Amino acid sequence: MRKQMLCKNCGFVGAPKKKAKGSFKVELSLLLLPVLIFIIYFIQYREEYGLSFEDFLILASCDPNIVPVLDGSFALFWTMALIYAIWRFMTKRPICPSCGAENCFLPVDSPIGRSLLQTIEKQVG
Ligand SMILES: [Zn+2]
Repeated sequence: MRKQMLCKNCGFVGAPKKKAKGSFKVELSLLLLPVLIFIIYFIQYREEYGLSFEDFLILASCDPNIVPVLDGSFALFWTMALIYAIWRFMTKRPICPSCGAENCFLPVDSPIGRSLLQTIEKQVG
């Protein structure tokens, strides 16, 4: 069971939410961009030479210059995506699910938490 925490900002009691910096969309874009480029090249080759996807794969694997992203850019994009994902994971911080504030939590069972909770209860009740 997660520890009950008190939000200094709004008086919420419960478990904080974890929120990562950056955005998942950027992470996904970094992962998908090389794939997208690859598909765009395939479409071009299909229209110009009538290649099937299988033929295109064989061609691209024989000659990396056919699709510029195969010359290591794929790896570069995915390395960036990985670093970005790790950075996001490491910058995860607790936020209040009720008011969205950061760094606003006190343990409910700490003396300061208890006294703050009493103050809030007096104000409300
Ligand atoms: Zn709050």
